[in-house]
Amino acid sequence: MLFGRTKKNPIKIADKKVVEWKTSTCGYCSTGCSIEIGMNGEGVPVSSRGAAEADVNRGKLCIKGIYEHELFTSAGRGTTPLMRDKIYDDFQPASWDTALDHMGSEIKRIQAEHGPDSFAIVSTGQLMTEEFYTLGKLARGAIGTNNYDGNTTLCMASAVSGYKRSFGSDGPPGCYDDFSHTDCLLAFGSNLPEQHPVIYWRMKEELEKRKFPLIVIDPRVTMLAQFADMHLPIRPGTDVVLLNAFAQVILDEGLEDADYLFKNTTRPNDFENVLQDYAPDKAAPICDIDADTIRTVARLYAKSKAAMSIWTMGINQSTHGSDGVVGINNLNLLTGNVGKPGGGGLSITGQCNAMGTREWSSCSGLPGYRVLENPEHRKEVADFWGIEESIFPKKVGLKETDIFPAIETGQIKGLWLVATNPLTSMANTARIRKTLEKLDFLVVQDAYEDVESNQYAHMFLPAALWSEKEGVFTNTERRVNIISKVTEAPGSAKPDHEIFSELAKRFDNGKKIKFPDTTSEIFDEMRELSKGRLVDISGMSHDLIRENHGLQWPYKEGDTVATPRLYTDGKFQHSDGKAHLLSLPFFDNNESPDEDYPFWLNTGRVVEHFHTRTRTGKIGNLNKFSPTPYMEMNTDMAIELGIEHMKYIRLVSRRGDAVVLVQHTQRVPRNMVFIPFHFHDCVNRLTLGLLDPHSRQPAFKQSSVRIEAVDQKTAARLNMQARTF
Ligand code: SF4
Repeated sequence: MLFGRTKKNPIKIADKKVVEWKTSTCGYCSTGCSIEIGMNGEGVPVSSRGAAEADVNRGKLCIKGIYEHELFTSAGRGTTPLMRDKIYDDFQPASWDTALDHMGSEIKRIQAEHGPDSFAIVSTGQLMTEEFYTLGKLARGAIGTNNYDGNTTLCMASAVSGYKRSFGSDGPPGCYDDFSHTDCLLAFGSNLPEQHPVIYWRMKEELEKRKFPLIVIDPRVTMLAQFADMHLPIRPGTDVVLLNAFAQVILDEGLEDADYLFKNTTRPNDFENVLQDYAPDKAAPICDIDADTIRTVARLYAKSKAAMSIWTMGINQSTHGSDGVVGINNLNLLTGNVGKPGGGGLSITGQCNAMGTREWSSCSGLPGYRVLENPEHRKEVADFWGIEESIFPKKVGLKETDIFPAIETGQIKGLWLVATNPLTSMANTARIRKTLEKLDFLVVQDAYEDVESNQYAHMFLPAALWSEKEGVFTNTERRVNIISKVTEAPGSAKPDHEIFSELAKRFDNGKKIKFPDTTSEIFDEMRELSKGRLVDISGMSHDLIRENHGLQWPYKEGDTVATPRLYTDGKFQHSDGKAHLLSLPFFDNNESPDEDYPFWLNTGRVVEHFHTRTRTGKIGNLNKFSPTPYMEMNTDMAIELGIEHMKYIRLVSRRGDAVVLVQHTQRVPRNMVFIPFHFHDCVNRLTLGLLDPHSRQPAFKQSSVRIEAVDQKTAARLNMQARTF
């Protein structure tokens, strides 16, 4: 018997005439899907598919991966270095030597006039790990600036900070395989089906085989919340209160794993006392989750044989982001879940190689999770690189979110942006625009010369895209994956590591430090430097990683099996070897709705786009499915206010305004609106972005706004601007 559309309009997939498939890793999100790029007879990439043998994605890709080969021929690529004296002049093409000579002398001039830290560098989570390591060498060892950070401060800094405070080191303890063993899954501010579709598929597949409770904590009825057994629509910014309440119930009812706690943890004297302030009846009116639901979830989690928590930006992008992560760690320590199959915490990372920058870029210290504050670490790295230790500062400098205010005050005069686009990604972009205008010297290094931040650059350096070079990324579950070169970069665009190595030759220390030519030689250096560290990769090589479709660290010399989970032996990275439970008093400092600005503004992602659309905005099918900035508004509230579905409105905050198309939905409560963050000159004109005191990560998801009517024709024009470049 024949099934399906056999007679009428059968679906035909066009023959792309692929003669060879080349394996790489997707360059968008941190899931780490193994991707095969199909090449035609002329050696042109014409198709993409998931690699069936790869454990991460088992043949699947999301819509971004399916069209990823189209990036190689996408519009707006940079092909030659560009220079200009003033930002409103036209750019002139330049040779690499001319551009890098000028860049080197401008950096030296600025540092001589205003001090070494007056030149800042902000990179990304998009480069290959070998490139991050090379940039760290250049920034810390040759240029010698301490104002060096990555845009990962906008997405993962709170996870990093929380892990360090609880466990003594960064490094997500869990892995995707935990979905196969868990008996209870708690998801905080994580909309997996749209943010990380393939991780969602891994989770869903396990749920279908073996039912376990899925509990989603999110102010919005996200796609994941729609599939959940329980949805807790929490008041924005109050996760710490709910987590404290869970901990209070567990200790009050004697549900903790006392043996685990005794052997493996320490806790401050006031720990239980602080929790008393967040007993369910006291927490309920603050976080808007009723006391019985809090007790039910706490009991369910504590009584499960193995319980795990996942989270994304709903926790991290908050003034209490680091505390939220510590609260999740507290919960997993109290219940003895850390390091257990199916238990513990897994921060789901945003960018494809945000993990690589955390491990190796030296942004938050020195390579291999070493810290500047430790004299032994400073000496070890200085000796390894063959330079004087005195070039290293004794504590870390400004984070990205503090670098921009330091430009405003004149403390920083020069800036180098590497594959990052603050003119769209930072909170309060009107202020960022004025800030960039103040710089004496701005260099933008990117694969795309039409990236918005380039409007304010004095120099543009064209970089190769992900599979125009070879190296590695680390994914969310600490899996090091291979990136293969499948085609050449356009024009004279270079891999980022080559740009860093070439620039290094313009500095005295850069001539002393070895900058290897190939990424496999750079990887060999990292392997050596990783020995004995938590992030030990000494047993890996590019070939071994390729053969295995990725290997999870630690993977020491002589190892034959990768390490799926950390802390299985209860030994942590604090000097006392223990994990630290921490007290988390809550102070509400959010910009909450009031009479003038009565709606919460929530932001997030859509499945079709990645970050500031520098890449996905160029792909026809992705734009077709998600063409325009829009705002989700509660249907009942919209009808009450006379706001029609699919009409434009103006949204106003204390920072600025944005024009968006209204979509009626019950996904948001009456007092909240939601806008995807991908579009230029849109939601980040409105956001406040108060900073977490520990991680310096901005609270993108807690601002307040009001809604105003707008002339529909003018609005259509303004809305169009937000989706074009
Ligand atoms: Fe790429 Fe992430 Fe989609 Fe996988 S889920 S194909 S890694 S964007």
